[in-house]
Amino acid sequence: MRVLAALWAVLWLAMAGMAAGQGLSALARLDPAGSRLRDAGGGIALDLALSQPVPWRVRVLDAPPRLVADFREVDWGALDRTPFGTSQRVRDLRAGPLAPGWSRLVLELDGPYRVAEAEMRTGADAAGGALVRLRLDPTDPADFAARAALPDPEHWALPLPRPAETAEPRRRHRGEGPLTVALDPGHGGIDPGAERGGKTEAALMLTFARELKEALVRAGGFSVVMTREADVFVPLETRIAIAHEQGADVFLSLHGDAAAEGEATGATVYVLADEASDAASAALAERHDRDSLLAGVDLKGQDDVIAGVLMDMARRETAPRSDRLSAALVAAIAAEGLGLHSKPRRGAAFSVLKSPDIPSVLIELGYMSSPRDLDRLSDPAWRARMAGAIAAALRDWSVADAAEAALLRQ
Ligand SMILES: [Zn+2]
Repeated sequence: MRVLAALWAVLWLAMAGMAAGQGLSALARLDPAGSRLRDAGGGIALDLALSQPVPWRVRVLDAPPRLVADFREVDWGALDRTPFGTSQRVRDLRAGPLAPGWSRLVLELDGPYRVAEAEMRTGADAAGGALVRLRLDPTDPADFAARAALPDPEHWALPLPRPAETAEPRRRHRGEGPLTVALDPGHGGIDPGAERGGKTEAALMLTFARELKEALVRAGGFSVVMTREADVFVPLETRIAIAHEQGADVFLSLHGDAAAEGEATGATVYVLADEASDAASAALAERHDRDSLLAGVDLKGQDDVIAGVLMDMARRETAPRSDRLSAALVAAIAAEGLGLHSKPRRGAAFSVLKSPDIPSVLIELGYMSSPRDLDRLSDPAWRARMAGAIAAALRDWSVADAAEAALLRQ
């Protein structure tokens, strides 16, 4: 344990020095030709060739076991185009933007490993490149658990939510002043979501969220909060925390996933449910939680606090409000003739919908796996109609919701 802590310190000092000296003006790029992933002995060897040295840091995390390496300003685009070797012991390898200025590489591991070697070599080539050498050796579960439980240094870049206990329950909107709408473009950064025809769900949803924000502001009576404004990774818990901190009255998560069921097409509106409506809904929610967890930090302990103390409150008051919002959205999308899934109102255990006191829904605008839906999602005119339908639904819902709040107050 002490050895690893020392390694941390050394790494961080090396990085800090490098940051001061390098200026970080240019983006470093991954060079797949000089990079390699392979099994080595009983462990894993990963070499990464970068076009220039950058500050970086590395650690392991548990559940599932994974190696997480954060780098300043690296363009990982080449990783998707050119795989550079495989390891039987690495179940998944992904990389992408994490937070402004930082990118993350994640290796999902098949068991407990320790970082035996982690260094960045510079000056090896005339072009000024850098070679990252990572060596992982197998270790026992107890040793791994201790390493995975090490606290992050303060400089760790991941935006973390405030502790749940300090979040005060939101006072319910009663129709006075604008309705604050939190728009949550799904995925982002290291987690691109579904990908079809050279487009990513993360990019499509960010575009749509911006357009919907404009439509709501134009319509009047709404103020809008976005959980992300760029192509960066935002943990699910942080999305909820942003909505709380900004005083959101309602939360809309925006998605356009690919479906395993081949024929799926049209819009679907999800609310939080312990028991998913069907197997496809359960799988969709599981995949979203898993992809977010792989890239981020496990905050399950905190989630349990929310679950235990506040979920009852959610079930009593907030769940019926979310249900009515889901009904209003489906009615407005149907009225506009925009295409609904054959079973448009469903429930699943999406973590991002777990705000105890903010009515929350997740809208699958369509399925990127359906060519027709992908055309619609890519069409600005269709998106404008969808934004209009959502704005109309929010208006209808908020009037009825405020009337109910007034009744409850009497
Ligand atoms: Zn999604």
